[in-house]
Amino acid sequence: MRVYQLAKKFNLRSSELLKIIIKVGLKGKSNLSSLSSKEIKKIKEVVFKKPSSKKKEKIIPRDPVITFLGHVDHGKTTLLDAIRKTKVAEQEVGGITQRIGASEIEFKRKRIIFIDTPGHEAFTAMRAQGAQVTDIVVLVIAADDGIMPQTVEAIDHARAAKVPILVAINKIDKKEANIDRVKKQLTKYNLAPEEWGGETICVEVSALNHQGINKLLEMILLEAEMLELKASPENELEAVAIEGEMDRKKGPFSTLLVKKGTLRVGDIVVGKITYGKVRSLINWKGEMSKEAGPSTPVRILGLSAVGRPGEIFKKVSSEKEARLIVEKSAEKEREKGLKRGEITLEALLEKKEKEEEKVLNLIIKSDTQGSLKALCDALKNLEKKEQKVNILHRGVGEIKKSDILLASASGSLIIGFNIGIISENNALAKEEKVEIRKYKIIYKIIEDIEKILQGLFQPELEETIIGKAEVREIFKIPQVGTIAGSYVKEGKIVRGDKARILREGKIVGEGIIESLKHFQKDAKEILLGLECGIGIKGFAEMRKGDVIEVYEKKQK
Ligand code: GDP
Repeated sequence: MRVYQLAKKFNLRSSELLKIIIKVGLKGKSNLSSLSSKEIKKIKEVVFKKPSSKKKEKIIPRDPVITFLGHVDHGKTTLLDAIRKTKVAEQEVGGITQRIGASEIEFKRKRIIFIDTPGHEAFTAMRAQGAQVTDIVVLVIAADDGIMPQTVEAIDHARAAKVPILVAINKIDKKEANIDRVKKQLTKYNLAPEEWGGETICVEVSALNHQGINKLLEMILLEAEMLELKASPENELEAVAIEGEMDRKKGPFSTLLVKKGTLRVGDIVVGKITYGKVRSLINWKGEMSKEAGPSTPVRILGLSAVGRPGEIFKKVSSEKEARLIVEKSAEKEREKGLKRGEITLEALLEKKEKEEEKVLNLIIKSDTQGSLKALCDALKNLEKKEQKVNILHRGVGEIKKSDILLASASGSLIIGFNIGIISENNALAKEEKVEIRKYKIIYKIIEDIEKILQGLFQPELEETIIGKAEVREIFKIPQVGTIAGSYVKEGKIVRGDKARILREGKIVGEGIIESLKHFQKDAKEILLGLECGIGIKGFAEMRKGDVIEVYEKKQK
C-alpha cells in the first residue's frame, strides 16, 4: 500500500500522514506494504488519538535571574559568596560538592536565582546566540576604585541587552571608600541614583562584612516585581545552556536554565548542536530531581555533547526528530560560514530600509581618550532626525573579543581608530560576521559614516540567474518545514543562494535556498537534469508546478 492510499483510508492528506509516519519513527517508508501490523497499529493510534482540547496555559509569576557584572576585583565573587553564605542554610551548603554555574536562594519566601559571574564577555556571547537568561544585572562597583573601564563595558553590554541595571556599591568598609564619588560618576553614565533624583537603585554593601546584603536582596525583589516576570510551567519547554563540562566517567554535563515550560527526566531535548534524552537532573545543591520549572537551573546528563553556552533547548518527541534538527542547524551553520558578512554595511543598510527610523549601531575603539571623544562627538553631529547614530560602546585600546560579541549580538559596526586587533579576534569577527573598519584619519571615518547614513555606500548590484528547478512534489516535515521535491531544468541550484518562486510566471515569494538534498544526502549544488529536495528560508508555501529560480547579486 502506498502512502496516499493509506492516507485516503484515514481521510487525511498524504503530507499529514507522512508527518505521522515520521513521528512514529518510520521515516522513508513510502511503500507501506512492508509495514508490520504492529507498525500500522502505531500509526492508527496517532491518527485516531483525539486532539487534546487546547488547555489554557497557566501563566504564573516567575522568579528573577540575576547576573553580577563589573570591573575585575570589585568584589563580584565575594558578594555572591556572601549572599550564599548568609541566605543558604548551613546543611544545604554542606551538600554542595560541585557548582553547576548557578545557584538559588530564598529571601522573604521568594526565590532568587544567581548566575555565577560570567563576565560581560560570556554574558554577551550568550546573547550572540540569541539567548537571554538574565533579568537584572547587578553592577558591582568598588567604592574605593569607582567606575573603571570594565564597569563601563558592563554598563554598555547590559544596556545593549536591554536588561535593567541595579548598582551595588561595594567595599564600603574600606577607609578609602568614597560613595559620593561613585554616585557622581554614575550620573555621567545616565545611571543617576534615586536619592539624587535619578532612577537607578543603588545599594551600599560590604561583601567582606556581609553588610547591606538584605537591602540588596530587597531591592532585587522590588526591581523584579516591577518587571512582572511571568512564565508558564505548562508551556513548550525553552531552556538555555549556561555552562557545561565533560566528565570522563559520566560523559557530557550541561547546566540548563529553564525559561519556560518544565524539563523532566526522560524528555528528549534538542538545541543547535546538541541533543539527547535527559537521563538525570541535578539541582544546584547537587540533589537529584525529577523536574525543573521556569527560572530553575539544572545540570543534566544524557546529551550528545556539552551544550554551548547560550544554546537554546526545546523538547521534541523522538531522538530521530532531534537528530534531524541538529543536522539542519549544522547545515545552516555551514551556510553561514559560506555566506559571511551579515553585519556588513550592506546588511545594515538593508535593515535600515525596513525601519522607519534609521539607526546605525556603532562600537568605537580609539588610541587615546582625546581622539575617542573627538570622534564620538563628530559622529553624533552627523545625526539627523530620522538617521540616528547609536554608539553602543566606546573605549580606548585594541578591539577585543567582548567588542566583537557585542557587535554580533546587537548588529553593530566596529570602528577602530589608530588601533590594532590580534589575528585571533579578527578570525572571531569573521566567524561572527562582524565588520570592522580601521582608520588612521578621523575625517575619513566621518566621510564614510556620512555616506553610510545617506545610503551612498550601497554597492551597485547586478543580477545573474544561476538556475531553475520545477517543483514536482511537496513534503511537509515537522520541525524542518516544507521541502519541495524538484527537478533542475536549467543551470544549477546552489545552497545559500537567493531564490524566487514563480507560479504561472508571477513571483509569489522569495527566500534563500536553505537546504538542498540529493536523495537523503546534503549537497552544495545540484546540476541540470537531477532531482533534489529544496528547503527555502523565508517561504514555505511552495506548490506543485512552481518554478524556483536561483539568482545571484554581485557587485558591479
Ligand atoms: P571579582 O573579580 O569582582 O569577582 O572580585 P573578588 O570577589 O574576587 O574580590 C576581589 C578582592 O576584593 C578580594 O581580595 C576580596 O576579598 C576583596 N573584597 C571583596 N569585597 C570586599 C569588601 O566588601 N570589602 C573589602 N575590604 N574587600 C573586599
